[in-house]
Formats: sequence, structure tokens, C-alpha cells
Amino acid sequence: MERVFTNEAGARQQGAGRGRGRGLLLLEDIGTLIGQSGDIRSTLGRIVTLVADRLDMEVCSLYRFEAHTRRLIMVATRGLEPSSVNAVTMGVDEGLTGFVIEKGEPVMAIDALAHPRYKYFPETGEEKYHSFLGVPIFDRREALGVLVVQTSRRRRFTRDEVRLLKAVAVPLGGLLVQLRLMESLESKEEERRGYQKRMLEAIRRLKTYERSQASAHKAKPVTAVRLTGWAAAPGFGIGRAHLLVPEVSFASVPERRPTSAKKEQTRFRTAVDRSVEEIERLKTRMQASFPEIDVSVFDAQRLMLSDESFLSRVAEQVSSGAGAEVALERVINAMVEDFAGLADAYMQERAYDVKDIGQRVLRNLLGVVERDRSFASAVVLVAPELSLSDIMLIEPEQLRGIVMTTGGVTSHASILAKSLEIPTVVGVDRLEEIREGDHLIVDGNAGSVYVNPSPEVRREYERLKDEYRAFNRELDSLRELPAVTRDGCRVELGANIGLLGDLTLARRHGADRVGLYRTEIAFLSHRDFLNESEQVVLYERVVQTANGLPVTIRTLDLGADKYPTYLHMPHEANPFLGWRSIRISLELTEVFKVQLRAILRASALGNVRIMFPMISSLEELRRGKDLLAEAKEELRREGYAFDPSVPLGIMVEVPSAVQLADQFAKEVDFMSIGTNDLIQYLLAVDRNNRKVASLYEPLHPAVLRAVASTIRIADGAGIPVSLCGEMAADPVCTLVLIGMGLRDFSMSPFFIPVIKRLIRSVDIASAQRLASEVLNLATVKEVKGRVFEQMRSLDVIDLMETYH
Ligand code: PEP
Ligand code: MG
Repeated sequence: MERVFTNEAGARQQGAGRGRGRGLLLLEDIGTLIGQSGDIRSTLGRIVTLVADRLDMEVCSLYRFEAHTRRLIMVATRGLEPSSVNAVTMGVDEGLTGFVIEKGEPVMAIDALAHPRYKYFPETGEEKYHSFLGVPIFDRREALGVLVVQTSRRRRFTRDEVRLLKAVAVPLGGLLVQLRLMESLESKEEERRGYQKRMLEAIRRLKTYERSQASAHKAKPVTAVRLTGWAAAPGFGIGRAHLLVPEVSFASVPERRPTSAKKEQTRFRTAVDRSVEEIERLKTRMQASFPEIDVSVFDAQRLMLSDESFLSRVAEQVSSGAGAEVALERVINAMVEDFAGLADAYMQERAYDVKDIGQRVLRNLLGVVERDRSFASAVVLVAPELSLSDIMLIEPEQLRGIVMTTGGVTSHASILAKSLEIPTVVGVDRLEEIREGDHLIVDGNAGSVYVNPSPEVRREYERLKDEYRAFNRELDSLRELPAVTRDGCRVELGANIGLLGDLTLARRHGADRVGLYRTEIAFLSHRDFLNESEQVVLYERVVQTANGLPVTIRTLDLGADKYPTYLHMPHEANPFLGWRSIRISLELTEVFKVQLRAILRASALGNVRIMFPMISSLEELRRGKDLLAEAKEELRREGYAFDPSVPLGIMVEVPSAVQLADQFAKEVDFMSIGTNDLIQYLLAVDRNNRKVASLYEPLHPAVLRAVASTIRIADGAGIPVSLCGEMAADPVCTLVLIGMGLRDFSMSPFFIPVIKRLIRSVDIASAQRLASEVLNLATVKEVKGRVFEQMRSLDVIDLMETYH
């Protein structure tokens, strides 16, 4: 399921200007199709295909409205079952398509399946399409039909798309009239002339429309632009653009002849001293706020500033007559070139540090004070790339959003932004469209950035922001209340965390525990494996900050899509089936043991559990347990305190672990079902591959059976079982999961309140009935149909809408 954290990877860019140009072309081509029309039904078929292709929609369907029966009949479709044409009919009081006629205006649903007006028509195969946009087709005031587009990705349709679809609906009106007449009055000459007249009228209207669009397009310079990237941190941010450009540059240093080499030397030394002080301050600030983030970059920079060879190279240049700035530039350029020329990615990264330090010393040479990044009004930070220090220097009060070109969703900057709850979009590659002071809207849910949006877009986002805030405020009131069903069954809701800062969110959203602490996040931000004392500091802080809440610490889950450069991963054709997770730990046993020792030492301070990821065989578990026993023995010998009976569990995220759950249950203290991986391994669907994304389905009967069987086996063996994949945060799955007996969920803290509200609105008995029913169903379609029916009858469907 796609939700707020989900990105729009690769989504097609749709600047308003391009959108309009494309729109005209589409209307022109529809006009041509109509003009060449022979058989009206195949023309309609061609038109829906054209619309679907050009607008990049998976489905486009046309329905004719029959006034005397008040029914809609599908007359053409691209994307739904072809056999539905002329077969699927519905009353206007049924389904979203009927709702379009009832309302007489466009209807948009980001998650149609969750919409109270959704009606399921099994013959269409449409249940896999989540987002729905339908526009009415009118002839004067008479309703003629509905034009619908659908996508499997949950998305909001833009205003331009709605407008364009409305424009396409205009000529279709004529065709629907034509169709209706043809069907009822085929043999009558007079009427045929009538519909020809109407058709000509439709073409004339289309031409007029095209002309008006073309002139509007020419008259108004397009300033509003929508840029797309990847959603890295959720929420909506509105503010003025602040472009992060360097305060000084070597290129802008004015030419001058130094009067005395000695003076230049002194200037340089003073600038170096100031830079060292600044770096120290930054390091302290960063360490206090984000202990897991590697601050060794600051140490390296400071070392460079005291490195004799660096200092003497600059001094030599100064002695030969260069000014301090020029001398610095020459030395920095030479060093950057040296680093950048090395093949090793780690060394290449050092070139960036060298440039950074050059910049800092230059600024101090020129007497420019580090820019004050506290802003009087709301800003959105825009930069090709952001270093950790860039973010740290900004006062968060006025920081409403971040837009970057580089950086993945898991980059350091994105991770920090998520912890600070700053809506962030990364991977935006047309930053030149943004100027200082531009009005920006950052949609961190959809991965879009609106530059100087129209007043309607602004209003819409202000409204969304308010709704979002109000909804979250309402959910906030649940913080102190337990997740307990109406009939008194208690469910634990844990938080998945990666950074210490996430614990603040976990508390804010009322987590009962830390169900999953992903330790690899800290390793990703460092330049080497963390040593034991670094890890002890980190884990102890997590356990202390959790303040009595139980914390499940998962050992390293590196590899696949998470690998730090220092791991020197081999190239793998199938990284998710390759050297990853526990497989790495069991091979790099020294690294693994250091981690186990550090976790054990932290266990002395609180309620800690250890969890191994990606276990696929008993051999792996036993080998891991041996290493844990060795680590305990070493600590005992060395006199360190730790919890000797720290519970040990495994993630059940590989199909073999499901199959062997009964065996594992005898040898572990708990299990946690990792559906993110389990689904992709069970269904053979790479969840990062857009092409097969619609096949990635938590409500697939095979997934449900695997989850149910794991819960049953754990219950039977008397060991606790939780679920910590994204499925735990999916409201569509909650009822089924509690019905299967799951009493422990763990999810991104953000989703806790909505799941809690849902749990508090239902009773176990109906959830159990639902679970046993869906476990006997054979297809996703049937499962979803049944789940939605149940949610509708319990009146809890609204809980899904705000988050989709
Ligand atoms: C999972 O696979 O469901 C899981 C929680 O682990 P991760 O997302 O870190 O792979
Ligand atoms: Mg996993």
C-alpha cells in the first residue's frame, strides 16, 4: 500500500506549461479521431485509449447515462476488462461513477476503495486501481455520461489534469449523443441528420475550445511550475524559497596585489583559527542533537587545518607572492583534484570535505560572518545538496520544507528531516525553476514541489494542511489512551525507530514500546563500522531515552538497498537474494560480536530485547546464538554488567522462516513478522520496482495465510509475536490482523494514532469473524471486497482517507 511515506519515484514531470501544450495536442488528436470517425464505438475505444496513454493513466473508461432508467452503462474502456463494455451497468446511486452524475461535478478519490461511495463490480477487475477521477459529460444541462480515469498508485490528480479531462469531456458529449441516437433510432434518416449535426457541433465546440486555450496559453506567461521528486519526509510545507548558495566563492574574490607576505600569512592563520572554532561549535551542537550521526567529518576537517603539509603549501604560495585567498585556492584545487581522481568512492567523498573546508577558510579570510540562518518568516530550503551542517545551522522554527536535487530517501539529510518532521522532497532536478523568494509548496506526501502556485492550488494546500493538522490534533487526544477494542481486548502499539530523534515522535504519538530499532541507520551515516564504545553510547542513550519502555534492538540489517561505502559490497545481480543482513553478520563475526557486546552492555540499563533479521534457517539462528553466548561470556569475564536473560527473537521475513516457525518457536523468546520483506519474497515482487508495484499486496491470500500461521504457531508455543512491517500501519489490514490474534504491532510512530483509533472503534468478535472468512477466500479481489464491506458496516472507513 502506498501512503504518506511513499514516494513518486520516476513520476512524470508535469509542469503546468507542458501540461497545457500536451492538452491542446490531445484535444486536437481527439478532434481528428472524431473527424475520421466511421464506427462510433471503435472511435470511443480509440479515444479512451488515447486519453489513457497521453495522461499516463492505467484506466480510462466512458459511461453513457440513460436518463429514463437512471443507469450508467460502460461504453468503452482502456484498462478494465474489455468484456465489461455494455455489460457493466449501475444505478446513479451506486458507486463513485454514479456519484459523479449525482453531484454533477468532478469526483476525485485518492483511495477509491476506501471511499464510502465505492462499489465493487467484480467483472471489471478494477479493485487494483486505487485513485479515481470522474468528470461528468453534459450537453447543455442534460447529463450524458461520465469519463473516468484510474491509477493503481494512490495519487492526487492535479488541477490541470481535472481541467484537461473536463475539456476532453466536451467533444465526447457529442459522441455520446450520437451513440444514444444510433442505438435507439438507427434507421431513421431524420435523427441521423440530427446526430450528425450534433457531432459537427461537438467538433465546432472542440475547435472553439482549442482556440481559446491556445490564446490563453499565449497571453499568459507560465510562471507556476510543479516539480516532482521523491517524498522523503511527510507533511505539507508552505513558505518562501531560500536558496542555499555559498556565501563566498573563489571566483568572486577581487584581484589584488598583496603588500606584505607576512601580513598575508597572519591573515591566513587567523582565518584558520576562526574556522577551527566554528567547526568545534558545530560538532558539539550536532553531537548533542543527533548522537548517532557521524561527527568524525568535523574531526577530519579540523585535522586538515592543523596539518603541517597543508599549512606549509599555502605558506609557500604566499611567499612566492600570492595573496592568501589565491594561495588557498591553489592548494585546495590541487587537493580536490587528487582526491577526485581516486577510484575509491570513500576517497572521492573526501574531495567534498576539502572543498567545504576551503570555503570556510575563505569566508573567514574575507571577514564574512557565517550566515545567520534564522528567518523572520516561513522558509523552504532549496539546495542541490545539503550537508548535515547545513541543516544543523538552520533554526527549525521557520523551516517549513526542504527541496534537494541529490540525496535519496534514506540519505542523512532525509533521515534528519524526517526526525525533525520537516516535509522534504529529494531528487528534484529542475531547481533552476526556483528563485529566491518564490512561493513554494512542498508536498512531502506526494513528492511534489509547486513553484509560485496559482491561488487555487495554494488554497487547496492551505486547506489540506489545516485538515491534516486538525486530524492529527484529534488523534493526539488519544495519546494517553490504550489501544483497546470496544470489548476490552488490549493491543500493544510499538514504534519503529532508526534515530534517537524518532523516540521523541514515538512518545508524542503514544507508543507503548520500541518494537523495532533499526541499528543500521547509524552505520549508514558513519564512515566505518562503529566501534564498541560508540555503539554502547548510542544504545544506552536509546534505552535511557525510552525511559522504561521495552526496546527491541535489531542487529545489523545491511546489504540489499542499505550499504555503506566502507562495506565494499560486491556487485550482485540480485542484492535482495544476496549477501545481506544476518548473512553479513555471520560472516563478519568480529563486527557482529562487537555489536552484540554493545547491545548486551546497554541491556544493563533497561528493558532490552535482541532480534536477528532475515533468519532463513535453524543453522543461522544457532550460529547467531553461539556468538551471543560468546559475547556474554567475554563480558562476564571482563566484568561488564548486562542482562543475562535478555530475550532473543527473530524476524520472520523469509518464507522458510514461516515454514519452520514451529521449529524456531522452540529456540527463541519471541518473533516479529517483517512483512516488508516477507511479501516480496512470498510473492516474488520487488517492491521498489514500479512496474510490478501493483502486485505487491499485503492482502494477498498467501500473505494472510503466512501471517496467520506464524501467529498461530507462536501463540501455540506460548511466545510473543509482533508484526513490524508496513502492513502494521495499514488501516485496511488492522481488522484482519487483530482478528487473526495479533496483539502487538510496531510501525512508524506517525501511524500509531490512526491505528489506535481504529482498534478502539471495533470489537474482537467481528474482527475474528472477518479474519476466519478472509482466510478462506482465494483472491485479493474477494479479500478486499469483504474487508471493505466489513469496514463500511462498522463505519470506520473514514480512517483511511486522510492518510492516502
Ligand atoms: C520488514 O522487512 O518488514 C522489516 C520491518 O524490516 P526492514 O523494512 O528494515 O527490511
Ligand atoms: Mg526486512
